[in-house]
Amino acid sequence: MADERRRYLAQQAELGGAEIILGRPADMPAEAKWMKGAPPIPGPGLAVLSPAPVLLGNDLGLLDSIEAIAQRIRTTYCSDLCPHRTHAVPGEGDPQARLVLVGEGPGATEDATGRPFVGQAGQLLDSILAAIEVPRSSVYITNVIKCRPPQNRKPLPDEIAACIPYLHRQLELIRPKVILAMGGTAGEALLGVRKSLGELRGKVHTYNGIPLIVTYHPAALLRNPNWKKPTWDDVRIARQLLDR
Ligand code: URA
Repeated sequence: MADERRRYLAQQAELGGAEIILGRPADMPAEAKWMKGAPPIPGPGLAVLSPAPVLLGNDLGLLDSIEAIAQRIRTTYCSDLCPHRTHAVPGEGDPQARLVLVGEGPGATEDATGRPFVGQAGQLLDSILAAIEVPRSSVYITNVIKCRPPQNRKPLPDEIAACIPYLHRQLELIRPKVILAMGGTAGEALLGVRKSLGELRGKVHTYNGIPLIVTYHPAALLRNPNWKKPTWDDVRIARQLLDR
């Protein structure tokens, strides 16, 4: 909608519309509710390239569909986490999604079902997506690691290193318009840096030229509701980038 509105205003300007528009003409698209009070798109942050497919190992570069990658994840082991899984959680959604959301790793409900973000954090994520008027079915949701760590602990660096080639290949195939990294683990892993969430938020990074926004993990919002407002700002920045 922001898109249509921008086009409308540009059209008006082209038509010599120096006049001040008082109120909203009937044919002007309304501003979306989520856009009210949204922060402007911030400046650039880090710019990174993913490793070349040849470096991904395990002939991942030859897997040329999202389903083929999912099948590989479900049928092989890449780290010590894999033998302990009930289900691997490759990711789900539209293989041609314009928005890809990346979390840390599966929790208990995800391990039990084989689907990402279906527990409590997933329910919060669903309401965030609804608030920015993005249907869950239109995005692709995945994680840095595809198997649940014991007691939901943070994945270890070698577990991330073993599993992240899948994520790089997923992003290479989907090539979304925007990536939203949820939590420090996703932000650091995709950008290949060690930085705090505070340092990574509030900038438009690029991953292979794709705008990447880092925000809080939904599970963190359940622990600390004070982070809901900054997260709301971050997702509205991502939403505006989708319209750009
Ligand atoms: N937390 C994550 O990081 N990913 C999930 O899929 C669920 C919870």
